[in-house]
Amino acid sequence: MPDRYLDLVNSPLGSAVASRVGLPRPAVLRRYQAGDPLLPGPLLLGSTSGAAPAELVDLLKSVGADVRDAQTDDDRWGALVLDATEIRTPSDLAGLRTFFAGRLRQLLPSGRVLVLGRAPDGADIATDASRQALDGVVRSIAKELQRGATANLLLVDEPAGTGTSVESALRFFLSGKSAYVDGQPVRLGSGEAPAPADWDHPLAGKTALVTGAARGIGAAIAGVLARDGASVIVADLAQAGEGLAKVANRLGGTTLHLDVASPDAPERLLAHLAAHTEGLDILIHNAGITRDKLLANMKPDQWDSVIAVNLESQLRINDALLGSRQLRDQARVVCLSSTTGLSGNRGQTNYAATKAGVIGLVRSAAAAFASHGDSTINAVAPGFIDTEMTAKMPLATREVARRLSSLQQAGLPVDVAEAVAWLSSPGAGGVNGQVLRVCGQNLVGA
Ligand code: NAP
Repeated sequence: MPDRYLDLVNSPLGSAVASRVGLPRPAVLRRYQAGDPLLPGPLLLGSTSGAAPAELVDLLKSVGADVRDAQTDDDRWGALVLDATEIRTPSDLAGLRTFFAGRLRQLLPSGRVLVLGRAPDGADIATDASRQALDGVVRSIAKELQRGATANLLLVDEPAGTGTSVESALRFFLSGKSAYVDGQPVRLGSGEAPAPADWDHPLAGKTALVTGAARGIGAAIAGVLARDGASVIVADLAQAGEGLAKVANRLGGTTLHLDVASPDAPERLLAHLAAHTEGLDILIHNAGITRDKLLANMKPDQWDSVIAVNLESQLRINDALLGSRQLRDQARVVCLSSTTGLSGNRGQTNYAATKAGVIGLVRSAAAAFASHGDSTINAVAPGFIDTEMTAKMPLATREVARRLSSLQQAGLPVDVAEAVAWLSSPGAGGVNGQVLRVCGQNLVGA
């Protein structure tokens, strides 16, 4: 469903009217296209402790950024990146104000703010308080930015500027791949994260399976995984056969008719993998349904079907894979959650239960996946995404929902797919048991 309001306020007349009467002015977001530069302009790098580490400068240059330091007097920035890993006390936080004040207005449309910090570790209370303060600063910067610019926080375990996890995160967060990820903290742990031979095709040689892939977000995920080099198996209900075949043909993938909630789904999945692959590297639990009703009126089958498809299926399939030889080492599992699982939603107790449950699942299962040859499991929580599901909403509700984020627009399926593809890549090995929101900093539950 096209966003006609966004088109209107990006026309010369519509833009003038919207600005005069104070209406929201969502920007056309910069989304990844192969061959595009990493950023729309130079990157200003600063540090709260003096000069930024030379390793970070080199890493940023190697990923394609035109890096300048704070002495430069340019005034149009593609990105503002601040190394705040040495923050120890509340007074150190003034370094954030010094670096960003005055410069946020110089950020180009769809520019990027990235702060590198450290996660609180319990060693010192004042240090932990000061490190946690970065979360509030970055979320607030994200709400202050305009014209499609975003701000995110990378919590690094290694020294800033080292490690493939940091490199892969910089490639994702600075590029148009993270267009709809805003105001989010991500912890980059020290998990095994091999560098791909080719950063343009980080999934080359990998086998991936996406459930619920006949349309919507699942089809977009399959497309981006294939673009990044994976051989993709697209799975969906038998009745989705025609749509599924079209997706597979478009990507050069193969199909599997699989009802993820059926009692024999784990067995059938393992049998398919054993017969047709040399093992699975990437599994995306995307299949999901809604059966919305106020809890006061909800029927048992409306409750049970949502729990079975959205949550129980993931638990059962994961258990079967972990106990089998079909899941390869350094596997990546990504589960679709939802911001509804974080905030709750009227009429969606069943759905919110499953999407919150998925968050519990990935947090609890992270250790088991790490023990399986340094594999990872993470969740992606989309906010309001334009799909067939949301196209069925009443016009007024959809229009309000679209504007209720810092980016003032709905995301596209490809925005979710880019985040899933990053978490599926070898370089994201330092991210495990986490939830990444792809919601344009949705104001609900933010
Ligand atoms: P969608 O358009 O309804 O697509 C879901 C796909 O899953 C459909 O092809 C559906 O097949 C399939 N499916 C349903 N039950 C299945 C089962 N038992 N086994 C295998 N496949 C099954 O949904 P979407 O909007 O792309 O959402 C994809 C995922 O993102 C879901 O987990 C959803 O909860 C989550 N999400 C979406 C949004 C959003 O704004 N769209 C926001 C947050 C989270 P049929 O069409 O035949 O039923």
